[in-house]
Amino acid sequence: MFDTHTHLSDKQFANDLGKVISSAQEDGVEKILTIWDLDTPIEGFLLLLEKYDSLYGALGIHPHNAQEAVKNKILEKIRGYLKKEKIVALGEIGLDYHYLNSPKEIQKEIFRKQLNLAKEHTLPVIIHSREATADTLQIIKEEKVNQGVMHCFSGNLNEMRDFFNLGFYISLAGPVTFPKATKAKEVAREVPQERLLIETDCPYLAPQPMRGKRNEPSFLKYILAEIAEIRKMNKEELDEITTKNAKYLFGLMKNNAKK
Ligand SMILES: [Zn+2]
Repeated sequence: MFDTHTHLSDKQFANDLGKVISSAQEDGVEKILTIWDLDTPIEGFLLLLEKYDSLYGALGIHPHNAQEAVKNKILEKIRGYLKKEKIVALGEIGLDYHYLNSPKEIQKEIFRKQLNLAKEHTLPVIIHSREATADTLQIIKEEKVNQGVMHCFSGNLNEMRDFFNLGFYISLAGPVTFPKATKAKEVAREVPQERLLIETDCPYLAPQPMRGKRNEPSFLKYILAEIAEIRKMNKEELDEITTKNAKYLFGLMKNNAKK
């Protein structure tokens, strides 16, 4: 399996990260992509990626931090690190109109700048979009970005198709295992397999039956199992497909760049 979205530099992993990564490996998680956050020095984040073979990283400014990023010129800081070997994506970036921690206009401005930065570096983008589908879609279209993933996708089938048509991958997380998540289950059934990714988004959003606990990459197996059941596929086959998809998107296939 490939856990395509985690926050392993989160404080919640400070005491047992080594154990968390090795138990993920024992449960079949071959690769993990982890997202940098503003509170972690970038150099420290890169050391973490170097320490564990299975880890890859993404740098970017979360929409929650858009305002702070403008004030402290964070984008300029990130720019210098995008060529590092284990940085395989720009993210997570996007729009969040639910919390509105930063004003909409500033979120949009930082989002556009980062989409362009990703194009400059031919890196895929990892998109966070909450209650902002129309604007997210429009901005991605206007900036002509066609390489990326909608992380923890929570939209409906039509929205899934809109992003699919732009070339985007759809990543499903813990909520697909929740009994009442009809929309996510529908998307899980209908998303074309060549664009499906899976993720834990840990430490948040633990899947059933671990709901309420600290989430970790080893719980990815519950998400895989649920989607396999919905699609009436065997888990091994779904694992192979989603792992291959992730390696392709993040440039880890033998024949495309960053191994
Ligand atoms: Zn995230």
